[in-house]
Amino acid sequence: MTRIPPVHRVAYMHEFGAPLSIESVPTPKPVGEQVLIKVVGAGICHSDVHVWKGEFTEVNMPPRLPWVLSHEITGVVVDRGERVPDTIGIGQKVLVFAWGWTEEDEWVLRGYSNITEKPWQPSLTDEGGLREYFLVPHYKFLVDMEGIDDLVAAAPLACAGLTTFRAVKKARNVLDVDDYVVVAGLGGLGAYAVQWLRILAPYVNIIGVDTRDEAIEFVSKIAKLDEVINASREDPFVQVMIITKGKGAKVVLDFVGPKALPTYFLTLSKRGVYILVGLMGMETTIMRLPLLTYREQTIMGSFVGTLPEQYEVVSLAKKGKIDYKSVVTRRLKLEEATAALEALEKGQVLGRQVVVFE
Ligand SMILES: [Zn+2]
Repeated sequence: MTRIPPVHRVAYMHEFGAPLSIESVPTPKPVGEQVLIKVVGAGICHSDVHVWKGEFTEVNMPPRLPWVLSHEITGVVVDRGERVPDTIGIGQKVLVFAWGWTEEDEWVLRGYSNITEKPWQPSLTDEGGLREYFLVPHYKFLVDMEGIDDLVAAAPLACAGLTTFRAVKKARNVLDVDDYVVVAGLGGLGAYAVQWLRILAPYVNIIGVDTRDEAIEFVSKIAKLDEVINASREDPFVQVMIITKGKGAKVVLDFVGPKALPTYFLTLSKRGVYILVGLMGMETTIMRLPLLTYREQTIMGSFVGTLPEQYEVVSLAKKGKIDYKSVVTRRLKLEEATAALEALEKGQVLGRQVVVFE
């Protein structure tokens, strides 16, 4: 068994927007249902940027400072509490399901743990994975990763992969053959979403939209886009109407956020469904809502995913059905985490960034 050091390194956030500080802290001993893992990969999500910048303080995230970011965590089990069953073995490769709960409230029991009132969500409600050793509060939040050969690249399956999977499942329910889907935002989320669409709704036409040519090119290499629009040069509404011959898109998957809604909402067809996933521009108000009535349209939100969906996502990755490796474009050291947050904030990142631990 590998020796567990008494202290380990962690990237602490002491102040909003300030550089993270690398410090040594005692390594916890798991008790009860807890499991200690040695972190292998910790992905950087746009939510981490929001928390880092203090943009989620209204919803009490983070609940205190100092804080630790990252909720895309993979690792290896190194120690277990006394009530952890033998199915969780020392040395086992795992992914940490990041959308857990501390109490089984009504939402958890109904199968909507992603919107529980009692969340356990690393980097949002609890300290995250930018550290060498991470204490998982309950073994049920571990997903077996045996058969995944790149545990670092698999870390974003815990948020980017899962979030897009749930959103695309909602999209699939309303999509018919030859319908058009607008995928707005071709970053890490878009790169996954297009792949899920190809698996779950292979009969639709995908219109990829971004303001960056390099992002369009990046996603095009991972999965086929039928049409592309650069929204910095072309009007998405005009272009979608040309492509769809005036009908509009049946589904918009918005990975940008409310600030994009007034633009992309207009690209929807009658009975179209707008699925809002991104969180940019939270102060945006929606205009021209009467169109919803005349056109029988729907605007719905989709937030992260459930544990059963996480199993599905990991299973599809194990079967080689998606290319999760190409989504990760930068592997960084813990000391480079601040630079990763800054790059993401400035829109300089293609795909996903993951902090790697030796
Ligand atoms: Zn995330």
